[in-house]
Amino acid sequence: MSHHYDYLIAGGGLAGLTLAYAIAKTPALQDKKVLIIDREVKHRNDRTWSFWAAEPTMFDHIVHRTWKKINFISDTLNRQFELTRYRYATIRGIDFYQEVNQVLQRAANIAFLYGEITEIGQAGEQAYATVNGQRVTGNYLFDSLFRAELFNPYDAGYHYIRQHFKGYVIRTPQPFFDDSAITMFDFRTKQKDGVYFFYILPYDKNVALVEYTGFSRDLLPETEYDHELQNYLHNRLQLVDYEVEETEFAVIPMTDFRFESRKGRIIRIGVQGGMSKPSTGYAFIRIQRQVEKIIKSLQTSSTPFYNEAFRPQFRIYDAMLLNIMHREGWQIAHIFSAMFRRNPIERILRFLDEQTHLGEDLLIMASVPPLPFLESIYNLIFRRKPIKQIKKYRS
Ligand SMILES: Cc1cc2nc3c(=O)[nH]c(=O)nc-3n(C[C@H](O)[C@H](O)[C@H](O)COP(=O)(O)OP(=O)(O)OC[C@H]3O[C@@H](n4cnc5c(N)ncnc54)[C@H](O)[C@@H]3O)c2cc1C
Repeated sequence: MSHHYDYLIAGGGLAGLTLAYAIAKTPALQDKKVLIIDREVKHRNDRTWSFWAAEPTMFDHIVHRTWKKINFISDTLNRQFELTRYRYATIRGIDFYQEVNQVLQRAANIAFLYGEITEIGQAGEQAYATVNGQRVTGNYLFDSLFRAELFNPYDAGYHYIRQHFKGYVIRTPQPFFDDSAITMFDFRTKQKDGVYFFYILPYDKNVALVEYTGFSRDLLPETEYDHELQNYLHNRLQLVDYEVEETEFAVIPMTDFRFESRKGRIIRIGVQGGMSKPSTGYAFIRIQRQVEKIIKSLQTSSTPFYNEAFRPQFRIYDAMLLNIMHREGWQIAHIFSAMFRRNPIERILRFLDEQTHLGEDLLIMASVPPLPFLESIYNLIFRRKPIKQIKKYRS
């Protein structure tokens, strides 16, 4: 095996595999030798990616379900919204891995290497990765390995909280769910030390993913996720007869820390490249857009360096929301209730997706209670950040 490639892809998860798939589908890149490196073969349904989009994606043909209705529920608002331009969709991890593997196995220019990457760097004009003690080199390396040592939000004074959730895929013997609508937020639960809500994706009338999600500094004791889920199913949904078919637990960083997107010949992609939306944790669509830009740049300039659309206002909005979540997470249910009550749903989705223009941003701002944001602005200007109280961030 030759040890030099045009492109090394460190991490064959969502970002690495999306990039490899896009390379395989781009005729002008068929002569580029690519190596994907990961510590594991993907054969488990290890996650489900949901997203909203108005435009087509490369993976629409493997979408598990789409919905055109969204429920929002809190103590003060219970409303169903209809989507027109947008769709809410979900892709099962296993379907994604199978589709990508099938295409990549047929691509003569793309190979896999399985093993632990212990080092990534650049020597002269070559990027390299050390895998199982052996060095492989490339003209460029795409890095999607999330590494704690590259992520230090507290020293730099950024916010950092964790999105933690446990989900059950449940099956009911009788039709139970309205499978035409997802529940994006059901805030009818104790707001504890952060933001807490339930999220429901009904795959059909008998099967749904029901998730209990928190945005907070600390995780909950393990049993509490189950307790909350069971309580919600039994007491809120009045559902007693069901079977749990799968469970999912995850912790995702939510931070306004500025991930370095490029270092010499190393380009950071995926969550490590800052593609996770700081205030929501959604990353799927942002990763698709990042890959599109990289592919375009590889075709037009033979380099992967694309212009990052810098829209500073969204960094500020994210920082303000994270500041509120840190300080008084319970306010988020009120803020979101006001936002969902006073804005068309697609404006909200565009806003959360960073696609709104300033006029629309102002309409959103005018619809929410101003005081928590004013306090955030004060904190941001005077660097009075609640994060100073937190000593530990690595789990
Ligand atoms: C359970 C879960 C559910 C999620 N749901 C959604 C969702 O619904 N919508 C959404 O938009 N986002 C969601 N996210 C967030 C985000 O989309 C995912 O985390 C996504 O997988 C990030 O892609 P990535 O390529 O950056 O990282 P990953 O997909 O995690 O890929 C990183 C890869 O690097 C490999 N790796 C790491 N370290 C090493 C090493 N040292 N050596 C070799 N290999 C290594 C890992 O095995 C992995 O395959 C979810 C995240 C999780 C964890």
